[in-house]
Formats: sequence, structure tokens, C-alpha cells
Amino acid sequence: MILGRPRNEDMQLRPIKYPWAYDLYNQAVANTWFPHEIALGEDLDDWKKMTDDERYAVSFLMSFFNPSELIVNRTLALGVYPYIKAPEAHLYLAKQMWEEANHCQAFEYVLETFPLDKEKIYQQHLITPSIKAKEDWISNFLAKMDERLDIETIEGKRDFVRNLVAYNIVMEGIWFYSGFMVALSFRQRKQLRNFGSMIDWVLRDESLHLKFGINLILTILEENPEIVDEGFGEEIKNIIITGVEMETAYNKDMFPRGILGLNADYVNQYVRYVADRRLEELGFEPHFHDTNPAKWMASATDTLELVNFFESQNTSYEVNARANKENKDEGEKEVV
Ligand code: MN
Ligand code: FE
Repeated sequence: MILGRPRNEDMQLRPIKYPWAYDLYNQAVANTWFPHEIALGEDLDDWKKMTDDERYAVSFLMSFFNPSELIVNRTLALGVYPYIKAPEAHLYLAKQMWEEANHCQAFEYVLETFPLDKEKIYQQHLITPSIKAKEDWISNFLAKMDERLDIETIEGKRDFVRNLVAYNIVMEGIWFYSGFMVALSFRQRKQLRNFGSMIDWVLRDESLHLKFGINLILTILEENPEIVDEGFGEEIKNIIITGVEMETAYNKDMFPRGILGLNADYVNQYVRYVADRRLEELGFEPHFHDTNPAKWMASATDTLELVNFFESQNTSYEVNARANKENKDEGEKEVV
């Protein structure tokens, strides 16, 4: 059983019971990167040419991205790690927590580099109802994961899965992808290419976070069939649909008017498309039936082939999984 309070017998890595968790850990270690290896300053010329609405979209995006890394870490520390027994899953969660810390530093670096109003960005998520709603919603799920939670009970296990679906499927798997799409759309228009490279690396990490979360959910459901009934399935599906509604409101605030090639409707269609993929990954039928308006977006799994950075810097990334790819010397390439 992967769920449960760990005992002394659980403090031994081998024999590995959940190879997917150990594989993800090794893959995550191979993906290690550092924000300052990306020369963000090169994007400043683009920044000067951008419209006020475009700059507003970037700053609005940062105001949610910035705290969200720490929110995920808090959730992992308080709502996931304590209730998992498998050491290989603990290894992965420890690496994921470092990655969220690294993303936090990466976004701080963006705030330092671009002429953004930092104080305003630090405040905006606290006072904008559509952002506050997202943060409060995640916190409410985590609030149930305290010492009163009995992970051996059906309701305790269900609370664990509810929290996991909220922070992993909705926050990391839908809300973050919505933000990544907006961020990468600037590169589509030949703007903020280095920022786009940073987002590629973040996206690659997040795609593993999502894989881990989905595998964890599926493993829990398989090992604890007693928690699954029609009502619980409906509830999980509704958590995802509510997440889409919250993101829809948020994107309307991000694009009060729309910018070149991008408006709230376009982003929200992508959100619904991604939500359907998440539903399918969990074994549900699609709910929204939208087509992907952003076919240029890399899917979570093929990001690796599509990254195009460090053309000018040969760095330690040679040691990682990318070294196996023959296309590392290729220049700019469109994300398909
Ligand atoms: Mn992250
Ligand atoms: Fe994450």
C-alpha cells in the first residue's frame, strides 16, 4: 500500500515496490537546471517594444506563478509526504520540492530582470478576487490534511485524493499549463525568447509532477477500491470542472481587452482542451469537447524534443537527458 503512515520498516529504499516513482525520481534528477544559466536580460529589448496590455498580462501571470510554487511545496510537505509510505515516492517528492523552490527562484529572477512593479505583483494575488479564489480553494483542500485526518479510513483516503486532484491535476495540470501557454505565446510572436526557454524548463519539470500525481492517484484507487463509487467519481470530476471555471474567470482578468493573437476566449478554450486530457488521464470521458486552439503548444510529453535554448551557452546540461538528443545544436524551432 502506498498510502499510510510510514513505520520503521518503510525506511528502506529497496526492494522498490513502485518503479514508476523511482524512474520519475531519476528522470527529475537528470532534468536539473538553474535559473541564472538563462540570459534573461536579452529579452529586455522586446519588453521595451511590448504594449501596456502585453506587459500587464506578463505581470498578472507572475503575480500568480510566484506564490504558487510555495503553495505547491506547502501542500507536498503537509498534505502528501506525511501520508505516503514508499521511500521511492519520498525521494521523488523531495526532488519535486527542490524543483518548486527552484521555480520560485526562477520567477524571482524574472521579477528582478524585467522592469516590473514588484510590490504591486506581490500584492496583486492578495487583492484580485479571481486569483485569491484560486489560492483559497487550494488552501481549503489542504486544510483537511491536518493531524485529525485518519489515512486508514475511507473518508481520510478520499480527502487525500481530493487534495491531490486539486493541487496536482487542477493547479499543476491545468492552471499552470494555461499560464505556460500564455507565456510561450510571446515566443510564438518572437518576443521574450529567453523567458520562453525558462518556461520550457519549468514545463518539463511540471510535466513530471503531473505524471507523478496521476500515477499516485491511479495507484491509490487501484489499491483502495473501497473508496471508489459513483458519487466519488462525480465529485472528482466536479473538482476538475470547478477548477476550469476558476481559471476562466482568472483569464478574463488577465486579458481585459486581448493582445495580439491572444485573448481570454482563446486561452480558455485551451484550458478546456487540457482539462479534457486530464479527465481522460484519470479514466473519465471528456467533458468539454473543445479542440486545441494552440496546436503550437508542446504537449507535456514531447517538450524535450522541442526545447531550443542555450544555443549560445554550452552548459552542464550535457549531463542530463538532453545529451541523448541529437537535436541539441539546432537553432530556433517552432513548437508544434
Ligand atoms: Mn513549479
Ligand atoms: Fe509542480
